[in-house]
Amino acid sequence: MSNRVDVLILGGGFGGSLLSLMLVQRGLQVALVDAAAHPRFAIGESSTPLASRTLKAIAAEFDLPELEPLSSWGRWKEELPDIGCGRKRGFTYLNAANPKSVSGQMLVAASQRDELADTHWLRRDVDHWLFELAAVRGVRTFERTGVQPERVPNGWRLRSLHATFDIEHAEFVVDATGGAKTLLRSLEIPDDSRTLQTNSRAVFGHFQNLTPLEELIPQDVRAQHPFDCGAAAVHVVLRDRWMWQLRFDDGTVSCGITGPLKGQSAPNEIWNATIRESELLQQQFACSNCLRPASGLRSSSRLQRLTTQAAGPTWAALPATAGFVDPLHSTGIAHTLIGVARLVEALTTTRRETLLEQYSGQVLSEIRHVDRLVAGCYAGLPSFDLWCTWCMLYFAAATSGERSDAATDFLHASSSAFCEMLTAAESKLATAISIGSDESTRRFQSEIAELIEPWNSAGLLDATAHPFYSSTAVPEN
Ligand SMILES: Cc1cc2nc3c(=O)[nH]c(=O)nc-3n(C[C@H](O)[C@H](O)[C@H](O)COP(=O)(O)OP(=O)(O)OC[C@H]3O[C@@H](n4cnc5c(N)ncnc54)[C@H](O)[C@@H]3O)c2cc1C
Repeated sequence: MSNRVDVLILGGGFGGSLLSLMLVQRGLQVALVDAAAHPRFAIGESSTPLASRTLKAIAAEFDLPELEPLSSWGRWKEELPDIGCGRKRGFTYLNAANPKSVSGQMLVAASQRDELADTHWLRRDVDHWLFELAAVRGVRTFERTGVQPERVPNGWRLRSLHATFDIEHAEFVVDATGGAKTLLRSLEIPDDSRTLQTNSRAVFGHFQNLTPLEELIPQDVRAQHPFDCGAAAVHVVLRDRWMWQLRFDDGTVSCGITGPLKGQSAPNEIWNATIRESELLQQQFACSNCLRPASGLRSSSRLQRLTTQAAGPTWAALPATAGFVDPLHSTGIAHTLIGVARLVEALTTTRRETLLEQYSGQVLSEIRHVDRLVAGCYAGLPSFDLWCTWCMLYFAAATSGERSDAATDFLHASSSAFCEMLTAAESKLATAISIGSDESTRRFQSEIAELIEPWNSAGLLDATAHPFYSSTAVPEN
């Protein structure tokens, strides 16, 4: 076997594995290396319509039909029953102070039926499966392996302490190591994280024996919901933080607390203090325990990070390596899929350098854009209504993007009209926060309704729809 490859990918999460598969399908020689071994615990599980649509397009364009079942819950259950997933009909928001009445809830549908629903990905299974699929399709895969790429005039010389790693040269290297940023660090690419507005940490794990949300919501309120409120990316919104709950079909639930989490350090301390703040959470978690990871709750330092460069002539970083904002709005999977598709295009044309430069600029500006869509939600707290109204900017971007052919314009980050509208919305939000009255909150809602109008094909903030949106789902095809 040759000791040279066209592309070395560092990091065999779902992003690295998928990229390797697509490049091999285009005829390139690819090596994929992970420092850990599958199966392993990983976070980042809530998929979205944009992610599903992008994955479907990749499956068709790269002749990878195995991937298509990942794009809807119905096909996943039928064709990949051994890979863990959960049914996700949309986004559920609950005000922790008032979660059981209509005024403390907002539900936004993302799909019209269960079979077409999005999914929560049990990343342990999905990432393992994709890594193995890559090997079957001809990618040279290595686990528990560290590689140090060293720049040479015509690419990269590769060194590894692992005897089985027998590749000495790669023309191009991709950093798909996520938060580890292995290549970005070794290239000493300057960091730009301080320019991001959002400032949050997370504590998370997978729980079992959680009381299903549906059992705790009164029947007359549930009857008004457009979907089972627990079969969703559930957000329980507290005074300065929120909890995500993503239920898998085996009943286990991925749960995480995200917010500034100032003044508390131990994960269990943060967890217990948060549960004590909400009667709903106390009821849900009364008999529960953390199942995964086996070592117990995980916690992060500040989640936000951003590099100053996401690609050069002979290297690139995947979106989640170049930067990250927050789990809010579940943007990571879709952004990774879109980034991977762009990179394949760049690496398989003669305009490689131009497209890589474009890729770098796009990825960084998209992360900054997500930062703005997220930061306003936190800024609005403790007001649940300001939080929900700011979410509408994300939904306006997501639903209009889903309906058009705009996978290349991720959440309208490259639309000057949308970005100008966002600037106007930020100014209105600052005013609403400084006044802080019910009247200013109501006014803010009408102002946002007016601002998002050009992107609002889904009836967002229509008095007749709010707070339970069923028509936001992408039309069936
Ligand atoms: C708390 C949290 C919650 C999130 N929730 C969501 C969500 O609900 N929805 C969503 O869409 N996105 C979410 N995300 C984002 C999502 O996790 C990422 O978009 C996604 O994981 C990116 O996949 P990836 O394969 O690029 O990187 P990763 O999943 O980070 O994989 C990186 C891989 O690199 C390997 N690695 C590390 N160092 C090395 C090295 N030196 N050499 C070789 N391999 C190495 C690791 O073992 C790992 O397998 C969340 C992120 C966080 C932090």
